Amino acid sequence: MSDQHLSSGNPDIAANLAEIQQNIDKACTAVGRAPSDVTLICVSKNHDADHVHPALVGGRRVFGENRVQEAARKWPGLRDEFPDIELHLIGPLQTNKLKDAVVLFDVIETVDRPKLANALAKHRDTIGECPDLYIQINIGEEPQKAGIAPADADDFIIDCIERLKLPIKGLMCIPPVDEEPAPYFVLLGKIADRHGLAIRSMGMSGDYEAAVRLGATHIRIGTAIFGSRGY
Ligand SMILES: *Cc1c(COP(=O)(O)O)cnc(C)c1O
Repeated sequence: MSDQHLSSGNPDIAANLAEIQQNIDKACTAVGRAPSDVTLICVSKNHDADHVHPALVGGRRVFGENRVQEAARKWPGLRDEFPDIELHLIGPLQTNKLKDAVVLFDVIETVDRPKLANALAKHRDTIGECPDLYIQINIGEEPQKAGIAPADADDFIIDCIERLKLPIKGLMCIPPVDEEPAPYFVLLGKIADRHGLAIRSMGMSGDYEAAVRLGATHIRIGTAIFGSRGY
C-alpha cells in the first residue's frame, strides 16, 4: 500500500479495494479456501457518506460502523440508494442505544456481556425480531478491551444460545495491537468450532491476510480502503 492511499485527502478507494481483494484471493489460495467464503466488511467509521460512496458504486455492500448515532446519520440515505446494504455494528453497544441499533444494523458483532445479551433477548421478545449476533471475545484478555474472556466463552455462548435463544452466528475478536496475531486467530477458531459457529470476524487493515489464512470468514477493514480517519 502506498502512502498516497493512506492520506486522508483523496485515497483511491477503487484501487485500494482491488488490491485488498487480490490479497484476500492470494491468502485463500495459499490455504485452499474459496475467496467467496471471506466477506470484506468495509469499515466506514469516521468517514462521511460522500467518502464512502465510491465503495458502494464499486459494488461493495457490507459495511461496519462503531457508533449507533454516527450510523443513524450516515446510512439511511445510503440505503435509499443501495437497498441491499448489510450493516454491521462493530463497536460497543450501550443498552440505552439498543433499540436504535436493532433497527439500524443487520448484524451486531459486539455482544460482549451478559447484561447486553439479556437486554437483546428481552427486546426480541417485545418486537419479535433480532439482528444476527456475534459474540465478542476479549481474545488477549486485555483489561481495556471489551469482550468475554476466553475462559468464560463456552458458558456465555451456551447461555446465549440455549437459555436466551439468541441468533448467535459467530464470534468476533480484536487481538492485542503489538503482538503476533496468529495464535489469537487460532484460539478464536477453536472456540467457534466447539460450538459449531461458522462465522469468525477477525482481521483488520494490518493483519487480514493472516486472519484469512487462519479461517476468518469476515474481515473488517477501514484504513486500507478509506485512508486514515484523522481523529
Ligand atoms: C476501526 C475498526 C476496524 C478497522 O480498523 P482498520 O485498522 O482501520 O482496518 C476493525 N474492527 C474494529 C472493531 C474497529 O473498531
